[in-house]
Amino acid sequence: MSTSISIIGCGIIGATIAYELSRSNEYTIDVYDASHTPASAATGAALGVLMGIISQKVKGRAWNLRRDSIRRYQTLIPELERATGKKIPYNSQGIVKLLAAEDDLDKWAQLVTTRTEQEWQLELWNARKVVTQLPQIDRQFTRTAAYSPQDLQVEPVALTEALVAAAQLNGVNFHFDRSIESITAENQQSCDLLTSGLPIITSDWTVVTAGLGSTQLLSPHAAIDIQSVLGQALQIRLPKPLGNPDFQPVIVSEDVNIVPCGGNDYWVGATVEFPVDGVVTAQAECLEQLKQVAISTCPDLAKGEIIRTWQGLRPRPNQRPAPVIDRVGANKRILVATGHYRNGILLAPATARIIGDMLVGGE
Ligand SMILES: Cc1cc2nc3c(=O)[nH]c(=O)nc-3n(C[C@H](O)[C@H](O)[C@H](O)COP(=O)(O)OP(=O)(O)OC[C@H]3O[C@@H](n4cnc5c(N)ncnc54)[C@H](O)[C@@H]3O)c2cc1C
Repeated sequence: MSTSISIIGCGIIGATIAYELSRSNEYTIDVYDASHTPASAATGAALGVLMGIISQKVKGRAWNLRRDSIRRYQTLIPELERATGKKIPYNSQGIVKLLAAEDDLDKWAQLVTTRTEQEWQLELWNARKVVTQLPQIDRQFTRTAAYSPQDLQVEPVALTEALVAAAQLNGVNFHFDRSIESITAENQQSCDLLTSGLPIITSDWTVVTAGLGSTQLLSPHAAIDIQSVLGQALQIRLPKPLGNPDFQPVIVSEDVNIVPCGGNDYWVGATVEFPVDGVVTAQAECLEQLKQVAISTCPDLAKGEIIRTWQGLRPRPNQRPAPVIDRVGANKRILVATGHYRNGILLAPATARIIGDMLVGGE
């Protein structure tokens, strides 16, 4: 008999775990989400910038998660497109990070050496190369940049929808508009999920991927405090593409991402706004500052029209490193994959692999 798994939450993390597990026929998988559609919470607000190779992490868990995810993305996107017959918008022209005067160039040079040793590509561009490659950059800035051709950007909602569609083709059952109220783990061999007015759902394993909803669901089993950190972003439509239409990487300047998103449109994001006295409210001045950084980097952005602004809440673990991937509950049959904070899209494939290993007792 196959092993039954309930996954709570259908953002990028739940959807990726469901799809990756569905590639093995050992499992019967059900995914529950309180919302009407997939990717309705943090995932729906994300920019999908995957800063793996360009991150300063070089060893340990933080690097392994990034490395494994970028590696898996190289095959995952074409695999999903083949399975579903749908295109997933993604940008494989890499990420250019403009370095500021205070950035330590020796540290970046060392990172280039380390990545070369690790057999990844990373380049340091001098200011002349930056303006040649990216004529959209304000020429008053003579800045060095790091260019990571193997990092990418993917449209998070289309990706999550493709994961759901491909998982469905592999037999996974998705239940939307289904809020799980609590989990019990008293039985040694199974977990029970309680939902209002519906029969108890019993499965061999439960995987909690409920983002900000995880704290409450897990509270009888483990103290995992996930706080919200707000992010605002905007979409600018220009009369023509910035710079060279044939080279449109993601540009990162002062922690602001300028993301080509098709046609002459660019996403600009995202602010990082912490709760004040436990309350998170979007600050207009943070959005304005975001816009100003983007315009001071690429002045032509000022010629565009802002056609959309949005915000989302990132799930950030309090007092512990992101993400939380763990086994909890009296019977250790509740697996947790949450609190991915600013990197949930990036880290989803590696997270799914760890959950897969936990299920076969490997971690
Ligand atoms: C503005 C912004 C920009 C970002 N940009 C990037 C980026 O460029 N790159 C990157 O890697 N990351 C980015 N992130 C971070 C990324 O969005 C998150 O880390 C990621 O989406 C978290 O995914 P998740 O599946 O854990 O959570 P979520 O997407 O929040 O999904 C959780 C799901 O659980 C469901 N749920 C909750 N409680 C229950 C319950 N009791 N019962 C049933 N269902 C429940 C919710 O309905 C929701 O659908 C960004 C975030 C924001 C806000």
